Amino acid sequence: MRSLRTRYSNGCMDAMNAIPDVPVPLFDVQRQYRQIRWDVLAALESVAASGRYILGPPCQQLEAEIAAYCGTAHAVGCASGSDAVLLALQALGIGPGDEVIVPSYTFFATASAVTRLGARPVFVDIEPKHFNIDPAAIEAAITPATKAIVPVHLFGQCADMEAIAARHGIPVIDDAAQAIGAQHLGRRAGSLGVVGCFSFYPTKNLGAMGDGGMLTTSDAALAERLRLLRTHGMQPRYHHKVVGINSRLDSIQAAVLLVKMKYLDEWTARRRENAARYDQLFAAEGLVGRVALPSESPGNFHIWNQYVIRVPAEKRDKLHEHLAAHNVGTEIYYPVPLHHQPCFRELGYGDVSLPVSEQAARETIALPIFPELTAEEQQVVVGRIGQFFAQRATGTAHSLPQAA
Ligand SMILES: *Cc1c(COP(=O)(O)O)cnc(C)c1O
Repeated sequence: MRSLRTRYSNGCMDAMNAIPDVPVPLFDVQRQYRQIRWDVLAALESVAASGRYILGPPCQQLEAEIAAYCGTAHAVGCASGSDAVLLALQALGIGPGDEVIVPSYTFFATASAVTRLGARPVFVDIEPKHFNIDPAAIEAAITPATKAIVPVHLFGQCADMEAIAARHGIPVIDDAAQAIGAQHLGRRAGSLGVVGCFSFYPTKNLGAMGDGGMLTTSDAALAERLRLLRTHGMQPRYHHKVVGINSRLDSIQAAVLLVKMKYLDEWTARRRENAARYDQLFAAEGLVGRVALPSESPGNFHIWNQYVIRVPAEKRDKLHEHLAAHNVGTEIYYPVPLHHQPCFRELGYGDVSLPVSEQAARETIALPIFPELTAEEQQVVVGRIGQFFAQRATGTAHSLPQAA
């Protein structure tokens, strides 16, 4: 941390560890907005002037760009990533009596979509290194009622889609909400299953200024069905073929996203640099072993929506508090695995243990990784984590699953 001392020698220093007392946010949308402000304002003005506020020309253009980007023939905009998962399942005909295999360690929306269609989410465990659904656990969970599998590309890295591939003829849906631009064996997230689901929630790598979502597929009939379902199953106007929902993309969000699409790969490159810099900083601080670092698995291109480390369970919440007390933003993704959520109690998972998911829920903590994060801020984050362990040094070596 010598460079820190030099760089901040005139700043406000923490007496003990010479860590500059500067706040580091988990995520900062303002920094990104400052770079693209004038283009965004022009895009908003053009939508406002057009009067075509829902599914207008920017929506069609965004669909075309996302399809080309992901390598699929079609893309269909919708109102959120949650709706994308719901629409994908509904388009595949999932309903009562069906089972859908999902990871337990993911964001809620992956599983709630299944429940909302009257089907049963079947929770399976993850693999410990990359937090993604365990292909062997999927195999073990397949029954005659299994109608879909929804692997999540968690934190920006693809699940082992090759191992999961549509064996048994069961359709696979990519929950790529956290993984736009991620690749698995040279193919992009969203093109790895029969249909891909994206979210434009502001903290995702391609974030709107509100809610938005997108579905990707190379199946023309499925794309047509998705378009029907997102507009109340209506075709032609006021004639309803099926019961769909209202889940349309706003032109304003699409216009903002079109501006941001131009920067997406550059922002991904910055996130990858930040991840590599964390690896170096943790090594330089001698913290590898006290914390387990995330890694990119062979064959994958990680887009680092989150940089999630593991620390011993009994220290995790204290570390979270220590960092918060020093204005370093972190988050716990996710503190309760889905199979133990109260709303899923009737599914009977109360006594079921999915140990890898449960351990991840106790040990993980996400650090700031957004593209505009500076090297100095990363030094502060790692410095504060080093300070935490130095204050609590017990000499006990904890065995954490280390990344490859
Ligand atoms: C964000 C997210 C969603 C839902 O997206 P929203 O746009 O917030 O509805 C679904 N699945 C995963 C894995 C997510 O991270």
